[in-house]
Amino acid sequence: MADIIQLLPDHVANQIAAGEVVQRPASVVKELLENAIDAKADAIKLIIKDAGKNLVQVIDNGIGMSETDARLSFERHATSKITKAEDLFNLQTKGFRGEALASIAAIAQVELKTKQENQDLGVLLKIEGSKIIIQEPIATPKGTSIAVKNLFFNIPARRNFLKSNTVETRHIIDEFQRVALAHPKISFSLLHNENQIYHLPSQNLRQRIVGIFGDRINDKLVPISETTDIVQIRGFVTNPKFAKKTRGEQFFFANNRFIKSNYLNHAILNAYDGLLAPKYYPSYFIFLEVPTNSIDINIHPTKTEVKFENESTIYSFIRSTVKHSLGQYNIVPELDFNRDNDLDVPYNTLQHSNKETPTITVNTNFNPFKTETSSFTKTNYSPKKETSKWDALFVDTEIDMQKDTAEIPVEIESDFSQTSLFNDNEEKPTSKTFQINNRYIASNLKNSLLLVNQNLAHQRVLFEKYLKSFTETKQLSQQLLLPSEIEFTKQDVAILFENKQELQEIGFQFLEFKSNGIIINGIPTHLKQEKVLSFLESIIDDIKLEVPENNTSFLTYICKKMASSYAVKSGTTLTNNEQEHLIDELFSCKEPNFSPSGKKVFIHLPFDELEQKF
Ligand code: ADP
Ligand code: MG
Repeated sequence: MADIIQLLPDHVANQIAAGEVVQRPASVVKELLENAIDAKADAIKLIIKDAGKNLVQVIDNGIGMSETDARLSFERHATSKITKAEDLFNLQTKGFRGEALASIAAIAQVELKTKQENQDLGVLLKIEGSKIIIQEPIATPKGTSIAVKNLFFNIPARRNFLKSNTVETRHIIDEFQRVALAHPKISFSLLHNENQIYHLPSQNLRQRIVGIFGDRINDKLVPISETTDIVQIRGFVTNPKFAKKTRGEQFFFANNRFIKSNYLNHAILNAYDGLLAPKYYPSYFIFLEVPTNSIDINIHPTKTEVKFENESTIYSFIRSTVKHSLGQYNIVPELDFNRDNDLDVPYNTLQHSNKETPTITVNTNFNPFKTETSSFTKTNYSPKKETSKWDALFVDTEIDMQKDTAEIPVEIESDFSQTSLFNDNEEKPTSKTFQINNRYIASNLKNSLLLVNQNLAHQRVLFEKYLKSFTETKQLSQQLLLPSEIEFTKQDVAILFENKQELQEIGFQFLEFKSNGIIINGIPTHLKQEKVLSFLESIIDDIKLEVPENNTSFLTYICKKMASSYAVKSGTTLTNNEQEHLIDELFSCKEPNFSPSGKKVFIHLPFDELEQKF
């Protein structure tokens, strides 16, 4: 029998491939918008006619293409974004398959105009069903415009399969929203049949969400933010009071790419457990940032289904972060985190109080393990001053409390509510402390077991110290030997400039705000010089996401931030002295029960309860 296998001609292969990439006009919208973003455009215009069936056009002001690249871009597997298979594990771009333009050109009439910045003339290409019909020079602005006309003109079966204009338009708007949300700094507009549907200037995430979903969503947004080694989580969820009967606005982004994940969606619903009426759903806009090599985006042609290396860990982080934010913003009074720490600590009022009044009585024998109910009604404390290796580590971040209290006496009212913990004629524990898993410090109280989370405890201790020193001391700033210049983008300089006043209040001294950076000659006393850049960067990031909320003072926010970055980490071995010292300091705090961000700091298990477990 004669040989029967033959290679498919390119245009047929492209049409088949197109079936995977392009299901409907919205798929074209997604691919073209992503190409514009990869081309580093900062203004992108989408023009649609008849639900995209007759025209999808994207105009960008990005880097454009050379004449050769313009032609090549329509070849299958033609991409400028990866060169070798390993690049797949370090993707920085939206596209990488190099098949979108080839697929689109196989099933539509495409008109491309593109010009690079340094060229006088650009190039015009017209392609129909994979065939180049026209190629000529053209005067066109820097960037690229791709118009995709009459989608599926050569595959009537597919064209007839398209849904009504309403449905197809909805799909387009969905894609537009996903891309626009992931890139709030890029300005986007959408025109449908000459009507302007969206015009979104460059803005921050909250403004972008409001720009897309309307002013009313603004009050419902609860910011979330968590940074761990595995994932950085940022964004907003909505107050359960405003839950909706439709799934509505639920957005997950991984490394700024919209993803679908039932699994992670479940983590959110789980965090809302007990807060939503049946069949009501929260909205969310959650951005996950993971190392590029820990995510596989390659598993689906439209790249909305991705695989994370540490999926279950990410699940629990999302769940606890969301839960925590709902608690912290006092949205869920019945949850664990039923108090707003910011409001609890009255240092803000102390700030304006008369600092001259020397009213402190120092109880040098203070011991949290000893029965002394009175010591909790008024914290006349002075923690043991022990110098250890660990103290030395933190020496430039900690304030010497003894010195502080001696020099700037202050009377602090305590609302310590756990007095019962130490009430019942308890004595100093027989064996003092030991560490579990380098995470928790266990201590044997006479009638109970105390388990302290070392990281959270230290955060609380540092937080109160910082807050106290910022509000009570005048020496907030350490002068630098030489002025230091730090590079920032224009946008970021603008953010720093807007918050100049607050930053000065915590000790920054600015000499100059330039278009590409700042010059400073003073930094906060507690900040190490080598940490200044990352500190300012993370403040800028937070401000972009509006993390320092209205109900948190900038000072409180800064103190939390410094406390969490300087606190002794889980996994650190502590000597017995350090363990005891930390526990002492914790229980000298105004609010030892909760970390600055509202997490429980310790667990206390009475022995009779322990007994019942056996
Ligand atoms: P991919 O995005 O996966 O690389 P595409 O088929 O979408 O594949 O695009 C092919 C190539 O064409 C891209 O790698 C890029 O070099 C170029 N290109 C596409 N769109 C644009 C654009 N808007 N601006 C500049 N270059 C573009
Ligand atoms: Mg692409």
